Amino acid sequence: MAEKSIVVEGLAKNYGDFWALNGISFDVEPGQIVGFLGPNGAGKTTTMKILTCFMAAAKGKATVAGHDVYEDSEKVRQKIGYLPESVPLYGEMMVYDYLRFIAEIRGVPGAKRHDAIKRVVELTGLGPMVAKNIMELSKGYRQRVGLAQAIIHEPEVVILDEPTSGLDPNQIVEIRDLITEIGKEKTVIFSTHILQEVAAVCDRIIVIDHGEIIADGTVDELSARVAQSDSGLLVTAPSTRTVSSRLGGLPGVSAIEELKVVGDEALYRLDCRDADAARKAVFEIGNEIGVTEVKQHQPSLEDIFRALTSGTGELAATEPRAARPTKDYAPPADGDDGGEEE
Ligand code: ATP
Repeated sequence: MAEKSIVVEGLAKNYGDFWALNGISFDVEPGQIVGFLGPNGAGKTTTMKILTCFMAAAKGKATVAGHDVYEDSEKVRQKIGYLPESVPLYGEMMVYDYLRFIAEIRGVPGAKRHDAIKRVVELTGLGPMVAKNIMELSKGYRQRVGLAQAIIHEPEVVILDEPTSGLDPNQIVEIRDLITEIGKEKTVIFSTHILQEVAAVCDRIIVIDHGEIIADGTVDELSARVAQSDSGLLVTAPSTRTVSSRLGGLPGVSAIEELKVVGDEALYRLDCRDADAARKAVFEIGNEIGVTEVKQHQPSLEDIFRALTSGTGELAATEPRAARPTKDYAPPADGDDGGEEE
């Protein structure tokens, strides 16, 4: 069996007395494209910084391409391509010169540098930009330069931190296509808080929230899991107060919401504490109040996210948590302030 590309076991990280990661574990098979999905402050960047040897974990273990990120960081850096959240690009450098410089520091032999640059320029569509200064490029093209630098040394594993952040919708689609292209040859793990992104690009989604992995699977698997616990009904019936209060008062129904009105009819969502009892009751009064359709509520991607992440589903900044005791872990006694290590 092929060696796993990434293995993470019980990884924990604190910033002072605040624990940003609470002992997460997962592994990634070669060739997978994995979306690391979570709201702001969930711990995505922290995990990526540990995997790319920019930061040491407080507890746990991680290997990339078979090498330990702590004990064998030189090897890991050779095997990994990293696009940080804000990639340090030198604005006054020409794209070509910048890529040659990166190729050199990533150890691409002199005789192979030109070919390496040609390869990534072709892949990322940077051809018309190679002779321009980086500062002249649009954000989308700058992001392509970021991706090109991440893969110039042909890493086995590519780690991308919010690669579409701040781009316009067209640029987002272009970068997603590029990630799919890169994923044909490499293991890719990329973070995002955009649900559609993972659905469009990923074989698998790992959902992280408050420093813990709360779900892991394909979009379909996660959707099925949420659907199982989602006992909502969608009922189409006349849009009147009487109908709404009759439906809302049925046995097994805990809440009702009018989702939309079309003509004289409304689409109601019924939250159910007992879905079977609710469905039966709706059918019993269906003819009398004019129900035209009853369906099981199918969770959308947003519903899945909301159901999985603390019930809030919010994509905005999460309030920093107060220090909290973490399972088996205690902050290191040496007063580590969680600062970054190079
Ligand atoms: P985002 O999507 O906003 O980038 P994230 O999922 O990448 O979020 P992290 O950047 O890993 O989240 O942050 C996890 C938690 O750790 C957050 O609460 C954040 O405020 C905190 N944190 C991150 N870096 C530091 C630091 N250097 N010092 C103190 N706290 C930090």
